[in-house]
Amino acid sequence: MSLEVSHLCKNYGSQKALDQVTFSASPGRILGFLGPNGAGKSTTMKIITGYIGAESGNVQVMGKDALANPKEVSPLIGYLPEKNPLYQDMYVKEFLSFAGGLYGLSGSQLKSRLAEMLDKTGLIPEQHKKISQLSKGYQQRVGLAKALIHDPQVVILDEPTTGLDPNQLVEIRKLILEVAREKTLILSTHIMQEVEAICQDVVIINKGKILAADSLQNLQSGN
Ligand code: ADP
Ligand code: ADP
Repeated sequence: MSLEVSHLCKNYGSQKALDQVTFSASPGRILGFLGPNGAGKSTTMKIITGYIGAESGNVQVMGKDALANPKEVSPLIGYLPEKNPLYQDMYVKEFLSFAGGLYGLSGSQLKSRLAEMLDKTGLIPEQHKKISQLSKGYQQRVGLAKALIHDPQVVILDEPTTGLDPNQLVEIRKLILEVAREKTLILSTHIMQEVEAICQDVVIINKGKILAADSLQNLQSGN
């Protein structure tokens, strides 16, 4: 298991947002983290990535304690937040170079990671364009390239296909499937079809509680 979340609890003031959230994810598979709006998906992802703390519980990423050592764990995780925050005025390559720099990449290492990511995400023809000039689908590719620039082991995508037209949707799903061959991938969504389309495992969360955690196959066959 490359990600193990156990008994995670989180309150916002007096409101319980997460109540004993437990699940795990393994490499080479896509885990769909499925639940309606307000279920606690973003809160869980923000705790795993170290953006916010938790009241109690445990998060292990590649065997490391993420709650105790967020700085050590953050390089192991790539995160594409729901509201993909891109600097609209930056050029694609410039932005990815900046993002790589934040993870301490520089010189030839940064150059080769940039080349690889631009190639993998189909952004070579767009690399000298301003982010604001790109379609939503291509902006999402930039977000994906940014999440992967430091070659993380665990990749978390929060509602990655929201607002895409059908062609863009197909392209981004293809990319996600490719990425997942080498990584542990968590895809947070409120859409069951998204899970059925590309996930092997599914965790269902509602009102801060895990209702089910199994392979998609087992869940669908009622085992
Ligand atoms: P999801 O991502 O599944 O839509 P969230 O994790 O964003 O759910 O939210 C879970 C619950 O916690 C919701 O009831 C939401 O309103 C609440 N919540 C999220 N962030 C905050 C916050 N910063 N302060 C107070 N309540 C919050
Ligand atoms: P997300 O689902 O990514 O958290 P939201 O639009 O739900 O995005 O929330 C935007 C911001 O407002 C986040 O920082 C979130 O934590 C916060 N937030 C969400 N719900 C509440 C709430 N009920 N009360 C206060 N802050 C909230």
